[in-house]
Amino acid sequence: MAQPSENAPQEVVLATRNAGKIKELNVLLAPLGVRVAGLDAYPEIGDIPETGETFLENARIKARAVCRATGRVSLADDSGLCVDALSGAPGVYSARFSGEHATDEANNAKLLAALAHVPERDRTCRFVSVVVAASPDDRELVAEGTWEGRVTLKAAGAGGFGYDPLFLDPEAGKTAAELTAAEKNSRSHRGKALASLVARWKDGWTEAE
Ligand code: IMP
Repeated sequence: MAQPSENAPQEVVLATRNAGKIKELNVLLAPLGVRVAGLDAYPEIGDIPETGETFLENARIKARAVCRATGRVSLADDSGLCVDALSGAPGVYSARFSGEHATDEANNAKLLAALAHVPERDRTCRFVSVVVAASPDDRELVAEGTWEGRVTLKAAGAGGFGYDPLFLDPEAGKTAAELTAAEKNSRSHRGKALASLVARWKDGWTEAE
């Protein structure tokens, strides 16, 4: 169901305590007259378990939980790395690939070990980001972005986070960790998902499933 632009929400909550993510989304949504608050404004909201089996399920779980708790339009994202030679793993388990409190270094070491015998041409992968906005009247806006690449044979670059040092963008000829933040945002799964969200903010809302 299309949402008339005059009914667009003005105050929304992003399901994160990461100040950088809140600032980034505020800049993107400001031209639409939307202000974004983070979970620091709602200390009563604790950790929300990501029990879904897909990025969409996890983003929905988080967006709906925050929407219920705050009574406001709420946004959440879920993302990860899907490697073809591993049948899409680590996928939704990207953050916990090597265990519940895994470090980026341990996850990257596990990924390199899992692909030890996979030749370069077969190390294709993609980052995926799904963003869900949920409204108190049971409508939602879903946006997705992907970034195609290849898992390198060894880490390169010091920027970014997570799997960035192992993710080669073949067009740039660099890993995600070798790109500047601005270069990464313009190519990344998250950048594309957020751009799609912003482009459809006025009229992309549908009845929630
Ligand atoms: P979440 O969406 O915050 O749950 O993140 C999931 C996990 O996916 C992160 O902890 C990283 O391991 C991985 N990931 C997601 N996006 C990126 C990225 O842009 N670069 C590197 N790793 C990422």
